[in-house]
Order: sequence, then structure tokens, then C-alpha cells
Amino acid sequence: MARLEIDGVSKHYGEFYAARDVSLDVAEGEFLVLLGPSGCGKTTTLRMIAGFVEPSAGAIRIGNKDVTRLPPWKRNTGLVFQNYALFPHLTVAQNVAFGLEMRKVSKAEAASKVEDALRLVRLDHLGERLPRQLSGGQQQRVALARALVFRPDVLLLDEPLSNLDAKLRHEVRVEIRSLQQRLGITTVMVTHDQEEALTMADRLVVMNEGRVRQVGSQRDLYERPVDHFVAGFVGRSSFIRGEMHGDTLTTDGGLAIRCERQIVGKAEIALRPERVFVGATPVEGLGNSFPGEVEFVSYMGGLIDIHVRLSEHDHVIAQVPNHDGSILPSVGDRIHVGWAPTSAVFPAGDSASEG
Ligand code: ATP
Repeated sequence: MARLEIDGVSKHYGEFYAARDVSLDVAEGEFLVLLGPSGCGKTTTLRMIAGFVEPSAGAIRIGNKDVTRLPPWKRNTGLVFQNYALFPHLTVAQNVAFGLEMRKVSKAEAASKVEDALRLVRLDHLGERLPRQLSGGQQQRVALARALVFRPDVLLLDEPLSNLDAKLRHEVRVEIRSLQQRLGITTVMVTHDQEEALTMADRLVVMNEGRVRQVGSQRDLYERPVDHFVAGFVGRSSFIRGEMHGDTLTTDGGLAIRCERQIVGKAEIALRPERVFVGATPVEGLGNSFPGEVEFVSYMGGLIDIHVRLSEHDHVIAQVPNHDGSILPSVGDRIHVGWAPTSAVFPAGDSASEG
């Protein structure tokens, strides 16, 4: 295990930047997840760490050693690909041994390392099978064993769970995370699956358009998003725009919303759906209550999403638990929604100034 430092790394293809000025510092034993929409530069960043893509600028250090210009096999990183990339004609054990042969490890030593790696992923009884004789989850574990067999300093996971069905994905998540913690191996994983990212990571990196938008804990990203993009990408938000005077946001649709912050100028607030309450009568005691018309209802079993239009320009989503006696409104109903001033988050980047 080792510290991984990515220092101002960019990759461009002609004029187009797939990754731009990415800087990350991953502590020894940390599990960092790169999260972002398709095409945001996650895989490019991971491949630069692995050595499969050469950075156009910047430096990558593993355990204080500059590896920026080293080929993949001289970096001591283990990469698990999305499609596992197993050799179909080689047995499980031969697949795992492959990287060791490339590194010229003796046969006897390789056999014992392969056995150890297969034991780590609980496949020691299946070493003689071919990949096609394994389930998807087992193939995924072979790929993991192959990455771990030479005890890499850094483990790199490229959407490792995306080919598994939902139930298996949940199990393998826990398995990978506990193995990673047991081995204390510095790990970077790429995913566009938010839930996966939130459940597995020590820290998360949200990327968009090649750039790092925010690095932080789950709570940092959810409760203190730095901009509109992060507030909309991590979890869901209803955005309301307007003009701040003191602690009141006067919206484009004419609502006066009490907020916690005192700022002046144009601003945007983001509201998490579970912080918005609904009622048949005005919502008392929260500080903000507005009448509105139900536009859409989504019944999800334990939770109900209610989309409410508050004015021509303003609308919010409330997510309410499905309790005994919860109201289940219909489209077109008039209801009331309310939230506390502290529930409005101001993603930075608005033009308002602290007053
Ligand atoms: P996904 O979740 O879809 O895999 P990603 O965030 O991993 O997306 P990247 O694969 O890093 O995205 O790609 C980032 C951008 O760089 C994309 O717009 C992609 O088309 C572009 N790109 C990647 N590799 C090349 C290449 N070899 N030549 C030109 N453009 C490339």
C-alpha cells in the first residue's frame, strides 16, 4: 500500500480535454471513488494512473516515486476492468498467474501466490475451471484475484460491478470493500453509480467535463455541494432561483422564501426532497410554507415522490415516507409544502455576496 498523488494531470486529444488539471491526494489505504456522468473523464484519469494513457501534462506519484512516464507493468498497480478481460482459453489459476509470468516470477512462487490470491476471493476450489464455467460474480472475483496477486501498491477498479445483476452487486460491493480494508490497499474506483459510490468510498471525487468539481465525504457532497452540478448530481435537488435581500429569497415566481444565510444579489437554492414536508393545510412551525398544485406523484413503496408547482417558475419535489395515514395526493390536488430555512443549500458559484 502507498500514497497516490496526482498533480495537475491533463489529457487532451487535439483540442479536446478528456481530463483537465486533475489533482488528487489519496492516502495510504484509502478507498477513493471517482464519480461522474458518462464522458466526464473518470476512466481517462484511472487509465493515466494505471499507465495505459499517457498524460499530456502533470505528474503521478505512487509512494513518492514519480511513475508518470513508466509503463503499466513497472508501476505496481492492479487494474480490474469493467468486462473482467479474462482469457477464455486459460483456467482460472492460469488467468491469475498471467501477470506473474509477465513479471518473471518463478513457477513455484507463482503457484503459491496464485493460491493465496484465489483464497482471498474465496475461489481456491475453482482454480482449474475455465472462465465460461463460472458465474458473473465468480468471474469478477477472478479479475480481482488477478489484480491482487502481485500485491499492488494501488488497486484500480474500472466500473467493476456494472456487469452484475442488482442483488449480486450489493453482495460484491461489501465483499470488495471488506477485502480492501483487510488488506489496507490504496484503491481508486470509477463508477457512475451513485449508490455504489456512496456506500463504498472513504472519499468521493465528483468529476464533470474533465474537471474535478468537488472532493469530499458523502456528507460534504450531499449537504455542502460546491456548485449546481454537484447539488444536482449527488442525490436530487429542486433548484429555486431569485434575488436575496437579507435572509429572504424573492423568487422569479414571486415567492418570499426565508433562508438561513444573509446574502445580497441573485442566488439559487437547492432543496433535498426529504427535507420538504407536505400537508393538506399550511405546514406550521418550519418557517416556510407555500400552497401548490400536485403535478406528478411517484409511488415507490416505502417512499412517495410528490412534484409540486408553487408558481409559474418555481417547483419542488417532496419525498415523504409511506406511513400509516400518509397523504397520497393525486395530480391536480392543491396541497401545501414547507421546509426549514436551514434546509436550503446555496451551491456556491452564485453571484450573491455575503451581506
Ligand atoms: P464513461 O462513464 O462513459 O466510461 P468516462 O467518464 O469514463 O465515461 P472517459 O472514458 O474518461 O469518460 O472519456 C472522457 C472523454 O474523452 C469522452 O468524451 C471521450 O469520448 C474522450 N476520449 C477518451 N479517449 C479518447 C481518445 N482516445 N481519443 C479521443 N477522445 C477520447
